[in-house]
Amino acid sequence: MAQASFHSKHFLSDKVEHFTESVIREMTRQAMHYGAVNLAQGFPDFPAPAEIKRAAQEAIAEDVNQYAITWGAKSLRVAIARKMREWRGIDIDSETEVVVCCGSTEAMIATLLAICNSGDQVIVFEPFYENYGPDAVLSGAKPRFVSLRPPQMPDGEWSFDEQELRAAFQSNGSGSKTKAIIVNTPNNPTGKVFNRKELELIRDLCVEHNVLAITDEIYEHIVYDGSVHISLATLDGMRDRTITINGLSKSYSVTGWRVGWAIAPPAITDAIRKVHDFLTVGAPAPLQEAGAVALNLPASYYRELADRYRNRRDQLMPALEKAGFRCYRPRGAYYVMTEISAFGFANDVEFAAHLVKEVGIACVPGSSFYKHAKDGSQQVRFAFCKKPETLDEAGRKLEKLKRG
Ligand code: PLP
Repeated sequence: MAQASFHSKHFLSDKVEHFTESVIREMTRQAMHYGAVNLAQGFPDFPAPAEIKRAAQEAIAEDVNQYAITWGAKSLRVAIARKMREWRGIDIDSETEVVVCCGSTEAMIATLLAICNSGDQVIVFEPFYENYGPDAVLSGAKPRFVSLRPPQMPDGEWSFDEQELRAAFQSNGSGSKTKAIIVNTPNNPTGKVFNRKELELIRDLCVEHNVLAITDEIYEHIVYDGSVHISLATLDGMRDRTITINGLSKSYSVTGWRVGWAIAPPAITDAIRKVHDFLTVGAPAPLQEAGAVALNLPASYYRELADRYRNRRDQLMPALEKAGFRCYRPRGAYYVMTEISAFGFANDVEFAAHLVKEVGIACVPGSSFYKHAKDGSQQVRFAFCKKPETLDEAGRKLEKLKRG
């Protein structure tokens, strides 16, 4: 029998040609390989709150071990609705407006799959959390990037150009329609916290062009220097055109639990629920029960969380600056974006490889947050969601780093 030559690559979907594996997760593997301090991926190296770990253990002991309702255990959905009311002043119906997913990662892609048709345009601020690019590709959408520009002054803010944003909302000539804008505030990787004026402009453009907003608010409680997190859904006219995405990972230091959610008007919730059901059936049932306990923690918990991360930021930044990095001071989230031109490397990837291998610190090359690698080629990102002693160790290692 004649045999066709077999190349497994021939069987792959075109879609996967359009993105690479996650650079952030790859840097974690490299950190393990070289025994380096991992300031790459955003996960804490300190314990999660005892009461929520206990709640998870109890849920397993009480045999909450089978599928939960596919769109989320009632206790967690009720807790999400209550927290939304108390913290953001928005009333949502836990029966019709919430989908619990496997992390906000699944909530984001399930949302895009639920709303995008092939060729729809989705606006994304750049630099962006690296998942948004592949998320758009997998859902058939075309990402349209709008630049966030780094501050010129040491203590300034990342900002965008109003005209560039307006232009992105127009159809792009090839007739594709702008379906949605993704907003991530507080922002990864820049630490930007979008202010009311910026969000009102986004609101006005969404209303004018009949576009949805998908807002990733996973760092909502991690803000510094008097910055205030504003939920886009609270702005007049946005309640019915916003999908708010959030999760347990960052607020409760449980990135491995994989529990997140989307909050959206009922018709959009219905569509997200359908996609979610066939993607994953449901998020881990006992951890959803523990999530309900987490969402009922007192306000003091969130104050302490933000204070702790502000201290960590104020510990890492001087060490980076002393070593020769230019730091862009984050106002939220737990990353610091830096500029590396003092070290004389051709690009961020070479620099990150040197840092993990020779200095013993893993960071994330800036290019992974941009569509065009050259735009991030003199930037790298550090995560500071670590124990003080981990950051001390990083500080000591940074003393080995030579300027170019
Ligand atoms: N969204 C942003 C902006 C993030 O930075 C991250 C993780 O780093 C995620 C989503 C992933 O969240 P989850 O663990 O809920 O999937």
